[in-house]
Amino acid sequence: MSSAPLLVLGTGNRKKGLELAKLLAPVGIELRSLADFSQAIDVVEDGETFAANARLKAIAQARHLRQWVLGEDSGLIVDALDGAPGVFSARFSGLNATDESNNCLLLQQLAETSEPQRSARFVCHMALADPSGTIRAESEACCRGRILFEPRGTHGFGYDPLFEVVEYHRCLGELGPVVKATLSHRARAAGQLVAQLIALIDSGQWQ
Ligand code: IMP
Repeated sequence: MSSAPLLVLGTGNRKKGLELAKLLAPVGIELRSLADFSQAIDVVEDGETFAANARLKAIAQARHLRQWVLGEDSGLIVDALDGAPGVFSARFSGLNATDESNNCLLLQQLAETSEPQRSARFVCHMALADPSGTIRAESEACCRGRILFEPRGTHGFGYDPLFEVVEYHRCLGELGPVVKATLSHRARAAGQLVAQLIALIDSGQWQ
């Protein structure tokens, strides 16, 4: 008898992992984090796009662990900065970057930029690899907004305190997890992926 489908969330970012676990809960499969696998590897994210990095994370970890792995890569694209920080969002302010130092640098770089020019979007790409390292499902989505002049709110992680969802007149740091789970780049990408995961399971291809 085959065991229940198991999916490893291939991210070392704990807060991102928690968001992913909640968004994928409707699939009804067993979810594990990399922390559950002492033999998990650090995958070098040297792709030029979110898609390339998500695939790298999924394929390398899946082959190594011999498990189904979800690779997720996401980041912030700021129009006035020609798309920066982009794929360098996590390490925008250097190798030892923290959320605070990244937000500080972003505010510095936008110091002379007026409100109408502060448009930005979060992008999230998800790639599912099977245990042989073959990509079996993918999705990508974005969430549009604007960069504030100072951080607000205490929810979320990364650039959430600076990212205003214009229609709500609030940033993700103020809106909190319930609202973020309805409109974020990750929520939208997960929504597309859930249907593909269910189809894979129903067709008997996931075992
Ligand atoms: P990754 O782990 O290489 O995909 O890095 C993603 C980085 O992009 C994070 O460290 C954050 O700085 C930023 N980021 C991605 N998604 C979000 C989000 O939902 N809120 C705030 N920042 C995010």
